[in-house]
Amino acid sequence: MRKYIFTLLFPFLLLACHSNREKEANVLTVTIEPQRYFLEQIVGDKFQVNTLVPPGSSPETYEPSPSAMIKLGNSRAYFKVGFLGYENVWTGKLAENNPDLKIVDCSVGIEPVYGGHGHHDHSHEAADHSHNQTDAADPHVWSSAKNAVLFSQNMLNAVVELDVENAGLYRANFEKLTQKIAETDSALTRLLKDIPTRSFIVYHPALAYLARDYNLTQHSIEFEGKNPSPAQMKELVDLAKAENIKIVFVQQEFDIKNSEVIAREIGATSHTINPLAYEWDEELIRIAQLLASQEK
Ligand SMILES: [Zn+2]
Repeated sequence: MRKYIFTLLFPFLLLACHSNREKEANVLTVTIEPQRYFLEQIVGDKFQVNTLVPPGSSPETYEPSPSAMIKLGNSRAYFKVGFLGYENVWTGKLAENNPDLKIVDCSVGIEPVYGGHGHHDHSHEAADHSHNQTDAADPHVWSSAKNAVLFSQNMLNAVVELDVENAGLYRANFEKLTQKIAETDSALTRLLKDIPTRSFIVYHPALAYLARDYNLTQHSIEFEGKNPSPAQMKELVDLAKAENIKIVFVQQEFDIKNSEVIAREIGATSHTINPLAYEWDEELIRIAQLLASQEK
C-alpha cells in the first residue's frame, strides 16, 4: 500500500521539485570564460553566469560529468560557442534530456575560417574529432574583435527572449559593450598595422580569426590536434626561418616542450598566452602588443 501511494505521489513530487528549481534558476551557463565576459555585461545583475569548462581544461575535449550535466540542465539557458565539434556531440544529449532548456549557438552568422585548425594543411587524413578535419569550421571565433559583436548579439537576442520585461536594459548594456568591443578593435588595428613580420607560431591554433581579420599568418606547432613528428618540426623550423618569425605563443593547456625547442631553434621568444581568459579585451591587446614588440 505504501509503495502504491508513493507511486501515485512520485510524479507530483517531481513536478514540485521541477517548478521550484525553475523559479530559482536565474542561472545562465556558458562554455568558456570569454563568453562570460560578454554575457555578464549584457545581463548585469539580472542573471548569474556560470562557466562550464574549468580553468586549465581544453573546451575542445571537455565533456561535462553527469552531475555537471544535471546542473547545466537546471540553468535557464546554455550558451554554446558553436563550432566546437565535441561540444556539439554532448549538447545533443543535453537537449534530449532537457527539452525545455534554451540552447543558444553564439557563432550563428559568423563567417567561419575553414582548415585553419590544423598545422598548415598538407594532410587531409581523417582526424580524431571533427574540428580537426581540414573542412571543419575553426571554433575560436572569439579571437577576433570583429566577430565579438555578432557573438554578443546572439547572446543579447536569447536574453531578451528569456526576459522581455528587461529588454531595454539589456539593449542599453549591449550598446555599451559594442562600444568597448569597437575600442578593442581599434587598438588591435593600430597595434598590428606596421609590425616587422606578420607571421607567428602558436602551439594550438587558437588565433585563426585574429589572423584573418588583422592580416596575420598563423602557423601551429600542434598538427591535427597532436604533437608534431620530427619531420613536421623541421618543416616548421625551416618555414619560420624563411618567414623570419620571432614569436612563439604557448598556451597553458598544452605541451610547451616542443614550443621551446622551436623557439630556441629559430631564435624566437616564446610567450604564454591565454585565449580562454575572462579578460577578453586585455588578453587580445596583450597578444597584439607582443606581436608589435618583435625585434626586426
Ligand atoms: Zn582549437
